[in-house]
Amino acid sequence: MTTDDLLARHRAVMPNWINPLYADPIELVSGSGARVTDAAGRTYLDFFGGVLTTMIGYDIPEIADAVRRQLDTGIAHSSTLYLIRKQVELAERIAKLSGIPNAKVFLANSGTEANETALLLATQFRRSNQILAVRNSYHGRSFGALGVTGNRGWSASSLTPVNVSYIHSGERLRGIFAGLSDADYIERSVADLREVLATTTSGDVACLIAEPIQGVGGFVAPPDGFFGEIKKVLDEHGILWVSDEVQTGWGRTGEHFWGYQAHDAVPDMLTFAKGVGNGFALGGVVARGDVMDSLTATSFNTFGGNPVSSSAGSAVLDYLLDHDLQGNAARVGALLHEGLRALGSPVVAEVRGKGLMIAIEFVRPGTTDPAPAVALRVLEECKAHGLLVGKGGLHGNVVRMGPPLTLTEAEAKEGLDILADAIRAATDAVA
Ligand code: PLP
Repeated sequence: MTTDDLLARHRAVMPNWINPLYADPIELVSGSGARVTDAAGRTYLDFFGGVLTTMIGYDIPEIADAVRRQLDTGIAHSSTLYLIRKQVELAERIAKLSGIPNAKVFLANSGTEANETALLLATQFRRSNQILAVRNSYHGRSFGALGVTGNRGWSASSLTPVNVSYIHSGERLRGIFAGLSDADYIERSVADLREVLATTTSGDVACLIAEPIQGVGGFVAPPDGFFGEIKKVLDEHGILWVSDEVQTGWGRTGEHFWGYQAHDAVPDMLTFAKGVGNGFALGGVVARGDVMDSLTATSFNTFGGNPVSSSAGSAVLDYLLDHDLQGNAARVGALLHEGLRALGSPVVAEVRGKGLMIAIEFVRPGTTDPAPAVALRVLEECKAHGLLVGKGGLHGNVVRMGPPLTLTEAEAKEGLDILADAIRAATDAVA
């Protein structure tokens, strides 16, 4: 069966809103380190790390061993009926790593489920169904998580089950923050938050949910310190802060273990997923103990924190900490940021992000007009030369990269060369 046949079968039985990224989709059949191989035998350097999911690389023996040991026991399911040692051990470690005082952890299967649970906790604790979220955010693909996602293009639904108001943040190339200094950006945002609270809510809001760096939104971020100032206003009203760390957690940004740590404040809850399972389904919420304990209804979660995912998660954390992958993200990330900035192309408006969370925003030369066709061309050129990158951003004109945190300097340089050629080819195409 060819990849074309597989695509036809995919389209016949799967939703048409799930679109493979490339004109000729890739069917992955194996992976090793930072590389994957497709059904036609082509090997690629994976600078998107799945979708920031393959955090410590493909085919890591320590993860396979931990999972195999658990499978050998014959116990793969989870429920609230039984005590599960692997689950408790993982929760203890994540609670400690979170930096949230008196933390408790709810284990789930995905970022969507984690955010859904955080919204449930906040609304229960505060006895309010009003939520604050951020324009152009992405929080997952369930009814509630989509309800707080701040862009209809991604949420695809105008029906939101939650009572949500959006504050401004993120994009700095255009829009209300264009050209502002960091201090002015923060001042303007705080004023915006006060205005949104006063005009679109009763003031009695449950929480603000926000990504420290917007992922799907194109790796745009407010200035460091932003959430600290925002939290002062939230605290005046007793509003909880939920930091969605699904993309920014586990040291990916190099400078900190969590994205929130750039902001001189500690959230009341954080949500995590993606990298911690390194491909296994694992996500969750860390909350202040009193917030977590506010959920008194009997809870049941068949697969959340199952022994297999929990074993994988603990092995991932061991690997991450033993190999100081946060330090590697800082070092190799700096090399990539510097290399990309040095390219100086007229179609590149911005190279941004932190550590191994890097984005390039493409525009029409001499303007800030988004150039999605250029981003697409770069994506395809990279693929043709053996490099996988992601795409995204508000206008679809951003190339995003989130490689495994194990990426070596040699691999970074190899990818940089391919990117440089791809950007040159795309620049020539629009010139
Ligand atoms: N939150 C953020 C910031 C994300 O980027 C994503 C997914 O991309 C999610 C939540 C949803 O996570 P999942 O796809 O694991 O449900």
